[in-house]
Amino acid sequence: MGLLEGKTAVVTGAASPRGLGKATAKLFAEQGATVAILDLDAEAAKAAAAEIGPGHLGLACNVIDKVACETAVAEVESAWGRIDILVNNAGITQPLKIMEIEPENYEAVLDVNLRGTLYMAQAVIPGMRAHKAGAIVNLSSVSAQRGGGIFGGPHYSAAKAGILGLTKAMARELAPDGIRVNAICPGFIATDITAGKLTSEMKDQIVAGIPMGRAGEASDVAGCALFLASILSSYCTGTEVDVNGGSLIH
Ligand code: NAD
Repeated sequence: MGLLEGKTAVVTGAASPRGLGKATAKLFAEQGATVAILDLDAEAAKAAAAEIGPGHLGLACNVIDKVACETAVAEVESAWGRIDILVNNAGITQPLKIMEIEPENYEAVLDVNLRGTLYMAQAVIPGMRAHKAGAIVNLSSVSAQRGGGIFGGPHYSAAKAGILGLTKAMARELAPDGIRVNAICPGFIATDITAGKLTSEMKDQIVAGIPMGRAGEASDVAGCALFLASILSSYCTGTEVDVNGGSLIH
């Protein structure tokens, strides 16, 4: 019997083939959950859902669009009756220095990471409240805790630090409704989020600062998401869990 048997989950930004969301959706499915994969492109989302097995859903949803979030959630709720788990994984990053951040960079990075997390949470909360149960897992980053210095610029650190504040405030407000809200702070994980802008020199420098001596795998983060989404973490809310190979020990 899987840890998420009979549960339904929504994972945003989960169409990226080597991404954290896809690995999380796959592990959740292996543990018995029915999963809706939301991403910008409908075809990619459907293909990713089909890949993790039969019965899962793939939907287009741009998380910066409040109506799109509400529409996708309504579609999942009408298909399955309820949403037990939300993983706010959709995110983008940019390797900029402070003086290079233009208004459009600020908007893009803050919007997808922080505004998207708020809008998706707002979309699922009424249903979770009605059932008096739910688990929300937000993807922050070690960049929020140690002031960047990995790949993303200061605007990325700010967005991910904003997610920590939002996570903790939601945890406090939603605990009486039986909804737990937690954050994951991954360190350096080998995915495609760096969009070809990570040089091998940058990578060597990052890995040199990781006590475990390797980049993380998407499955390392998925395992933490499973813990936070499942009954194993039933008394955890408002936490930030480090998945960073020891690169920030505090
Ligand atoms: P990824 O680039 O592989 O996947 C991100 C996905 O989000 C893509 O499928 C993309 O299409 C989707 N997306 C982008 N904008 C969207 C939008 N507006 N609406 C819906 N979907 C959108 O990235 P990843 O490395 O798997 O990262 C997943 C999450 O983990 C992100 O929030 C990221 O900031 C965070 N994170 C990653 C790392 C890392 O080292 N990879 C470290 C810390 C935190």
